[in-house]
Amino acid sequence: MELIRLNGTIITDTLNRPLHDLRISVIDRCNFRCQYCMPADKFGSDFQFLPKTALLTYEEIERTAKIFVGLGVRKIRLTGGEPLLRTDLPLLVKMLSSIEDLEDIGLTTNGVLLPKLAEDLKNAGLKRVNISLDSLNDELFGKINGRKIGTKPVLDGIEAAKKAGLGIKINMVVKKGLNDSEIIPMAEFCKNEGLQLRFIEYMDVGSTNGWKMDDVVTKKEIFNILNQHYELEAVDPAYFGEVAKRYHYKDSKVDVGFITSVSESFCSSCTRARLSANGQIFTCLFNGNGHDIRNIMRNGASDEQLRQRIIDIWKGRTDRYSDERTAETNKNRKKIEMSYIGG
Ligand code: SAM
Ligand code: SF4
Ligand code: SF4
Repeated sequence: MELIRLNGTIITDTLNRPLHDLRISVIDRCNFRCQYCMPADKFGSDFQFLPKTALLTYEEIERTAKIFVGLGVRKIRLTGGEPLLRTDLPLLVKMLSSIEDLEDIGLTTNGVLLPKLAEDLKNAGLKRVNISLDSLNDELFGKINGRKIGTKPVLDGIEAAKKAGLGIKINMVVKKGLNDSEIIPMAEFCKNEGLQLRFIEYMDVGSTNGWKMDDVVTKKEIFNILNQHYELEAVDPAYFGEVAKRYHYKDSKVDVGFITSVSESFCSSCTRARLSANGQIFTCLFNGNGHDIRNIMRNGASDEQLRQRIIDIWKGRTDRYSDERTAETNKNRKKIEMSYIGG
């Protein structure tokens, strides 16, 4: 485990968690309207997305990222909204990949624009993509993404990422009664294609998706379904704070993972900060209060002032929402939308 060192002092949050990862949302817009994320009836044609001037510029993102890396961050993931909608994303990847000590840059995307961009992203220094795909059934997938878009554009995106030589993981959010019938078809597809699939428990992010505990298919339930078809063995975490619980198919080289945010929380090892597209730092996916750094930057703060601000934010971090989740916390808490700060 790598700890943040500041003049020889280790900097951690109030629960002794170091800062290791940064998720950067580059845009709050999306070409999908996934019903668990940006339901079409809440994100209609009159929805007010952030104006362009509110978005951090690439220079501002790079500057912030450099400071985070100086404080111990080694992994950056670009997300959104749909990050590939941001103009010239490969340029940002190139800028970030030249930051010394940054070990890994990833991207989470719905994949539709990968045929156009995968090669440029790889050439710019991107290593890995997580591509979201919740069903292989065109009709069901069109219903989930709220735009009647079939699976082909995403499958083409997966092919393009493969061809470009990017590492690929597939993200599948499972919602009870919606796509739990797709667990085995997706597992089979990913196993055959040599892709790591990660099942994500449906989470109570934001306040627009009408989340209910009853809609969650837990890791245990998904595992039991898989276990009827495949022999699986647990894999040790590759590093401190690894979010996915991984298993290995005994008859193949492929792993399958679970993101168990609801049924088996992992707040005690959460080393992740999030930067929204308009320059607010969030210390938890479920914390509605962001800490502005955009205006500080635009008002002329020095790098040292910005760095001190980020240190103060991390040192004051107390979040452990998933550890404390109850029906009441879900109802009463002000929460930020997933499309705004990224997954
Ligand atoms: N648009 C990109 C995509 O879909 O991959 C990146 C942003 S999206 C917010 C990041 C991830 O969050 C996706 O894998 C998506 O499936 C997941 N996600 C969104 N809403 C969720 C929810 N309510 N519960 C669990 N995962 C969710
Ligand atoms: Fe868009 Fe991703 Fe949210 Fe789906 S999950 S609506 S693709 S941001
Ligand atoms: Fe981290 Fe918050 Fe999720 Fe806990 S609930 S793992 S603190 S993002």
